[in-house]
Amino acid sequence: MAQLYFRYGAMGCGKTMQLLQVAFNYEERGQKVCVIKPRTDTKNGSKLLTRIGPERETDFTFSRRDNIFNRIKKSYADVDCILVDEAQFLTATQADQLMQIVVELNIPVICYGLRLNFRQDDKGFEGSTRLLQIAHKIEEIKTICSCGRKATLNTRFLNNQLVTEGPDILIDDGKSKIEYRALCNNCYHKLKEES
Ligand SMILES: [Zn+2]
Repeated sequence: MAQLYFRYGAMGCGKTMQLLQVAFNYEERGQKVCVIKPRTDTKNGSKLLTRIGPERETDFTFSRRDNIFNRIKKSYADVDCILVDEAQFLTATQADQLMQIVVELNIPVICYGLRLNFRQDDKGFEGSTRLLQIAHKIEEIKTICSCGRKATLNTRFLNNQLVTEGPDILIDDGKSKIEYRALCNNCYHKLKEES
């Protein structure tokens, strides 16, 4: 029986790298994968990039209105695994469509994404919230804060200042320095008080 997986972690914990490794493992065994991601991740276009080098073209990207189940059923029903990057940007309906793929087409779907937005508020990421509710398996990808504790929070820095307000997707205007850092709760609250 195929299953739906949600593997979450803070920014920079190597989610995309793990995705590429899983794709490689399947292909090494002569199996087929389908690698997809939401189109909202504008900076990399249709490619998956990692900080340490490896990259890969997606099989397709999708908008918030696309029905992923229909797309897979029509053109990728023969694959052995579906890998979804930036899964936080799925709509709740699309997360349900991934479950439909698992159940009706019996294809495992592995999603990689952030658990929570940088504001740490309960408006969260719709896709992640839904995946946390419905996935068969929920797995944490761990990473370390600069202080050595486990980093669980995804935070945004604008010109080296922690910011806690703003839209989910910030388009780089080329003038300010936008960075995301994985922080532990202690460092986050310390920086938030200072900001
Ligand atoms: Zn820390």
